[in-house]
Amino acid sequence: MTRTGIGYDCHRLAEGRRLVIGGVEIPHERGLDGHSDSDVLSHAVIDALLGAAGLGDIGEHFPDTDERWRDADSIVLLEAVVAMIREAGMVLVNVDTTLLMETPKLAPYRAAVRERLALALGLEIGRVNVKATTGERIGFIGRGEGAAALATASVEDAG
Ligand code: MG
Repeated sequence: MTRTGIGYDCHRLAEGRRLVIGGVEIPHERGLDGHSDSDVLSHAVIDALLGAAGLGDIGEHFPDTDERWRDADSIVLLEAVVAMIREAGMVLVNVDTTLLMETPKLAPYRAAVRERLALALGLEIGRVNVKATTGERIGFIGRGEGAAALATASVEDAG
């Protein structure tokens, strides 16, 4: 059986924070604000994976009230979720993502983000896709107040 999950996340952009997208640090005057490294793309992928596997959501596994996850590297959290899915007897099939961010452009970093996610997921690069779009200068994305991400994931459940 193939199971599919969706994930969504958003974070505020703030001064004095690092901008980490899919495990790749992008030089920018502002970064994503939150409890962990606030890697919005990795968080959306985590929720898509947990959704596909029927294993709840990111807040349940990594609560932002837990000091263990302060400034956490979200790629480490993603790897933990990949392990959970394996332990549940499921095999990852593919992951698709869309980043919604006005600036900076993802294009120069897209290949690196794809490679980093594929490595964390244990998938060949052709099974991981990274897309990006802007907010057309409208709404919180378009005004640069924050960034959001969408993801889907599919897993094979042998059971
Ligand atoms: Mg998040």
